[in-house]
Amino acid sequence: MWTCVQDVFDPDPSKWVFVLIQTWPEAIEDTKTVTETIPNPTTKSTIVQDMKNRASACAEPFKSIWQAIPDDALVSHNRLTDWPTEPWDNRNGTVTLAGDAAHPMTFHRGQGLNNAISDACTLLHALENHYSPSDTDADASPSPFAKALEVYERDVWERGREAVLSSTKNTMMMHDWKTGAECCDEGRNRSTTRPR
Ligand SMILES: Cc1cc2nc3c(=O)[nH]c(=O)nc-3n(C[C@H](O)[C@H](O)[C@H](O)COP(=O)(O)OP(=O)(O)OC[C@H]3O[C@@H](n4cnc5c(N)ncnc54)[C@H](O)[C@@H]3O)c2cc1C
Repeated sequence: MWTCVQDVFDPDPSKWVFVLIQTWPEAIEDTKTVTETIPNPTTKSTIVQDMKNRASACAEPFKSIWQAIPDDALVSHNRLTDWPTEPWDNRNGTVTLAGDAAHPMTFHRGQGLNNAISDACTLLHALENHYSPSDTDADASPSPFAKALEVYERDVWERGREAVLSSTKNTMMMHDWKTGAECCDEGRNRSTTRPR
């Protein structure tokens, strides 16, 4: 379960806009058939009710927070998708990808924007070092941007792929109580045995 404040335009917190998200793994049988009933995304109240049902197992105050969502709240239901970055054809240095387009990942590890900023930074440095603004021959082949894109893409292909895969791993772990609890124990043990 995930909560954030989306907009604050009044000192009164009851007027703030919050976003609440629930994610869960689909129940998949050995046959790889999805067995879980997905709420009908066209019926808002079904989605809200489904969220309230899931949250009924939470401790307070989380339980009450979820139960307080109005039945006609703005809601949507979606499946999380990702794919590990694969090298792409930059058409002789004329086109490239950055941000989620280059490395769409699940959000539980909170790395999508961080990587998008790294993309911008890497691309900027590559352009500074390998592109000359005086090189204006738009018809040149490869294009004047080709070397800069080669340097940028070498970084983003590897970093993006790693980020997508570790985000997926983190998402799977987060939805598995046993693995999550083991990780917490491991972290606790590490912090208590760390030399001071
Ligand atoms: C719930 C959640 C929590 C997150 N938490 C974190 C976090 O803690 N840390 C972190 O680093 N990342 C986080 N992320 C990921 C982060 O939000 C994204 O990785 C980041 O926004 C990607 O930026 P982007 O510019 O590539 O894409 P986007 O932010 O998606 O921007 C793409 C833009 O293009 C527009 N667009 C789409 N199609 C068209 C079109 N045809 N014409 C014109 N415009 C178009 C869209 O409207 C959008 O404004 C989170 C994501 C989610 C969903």
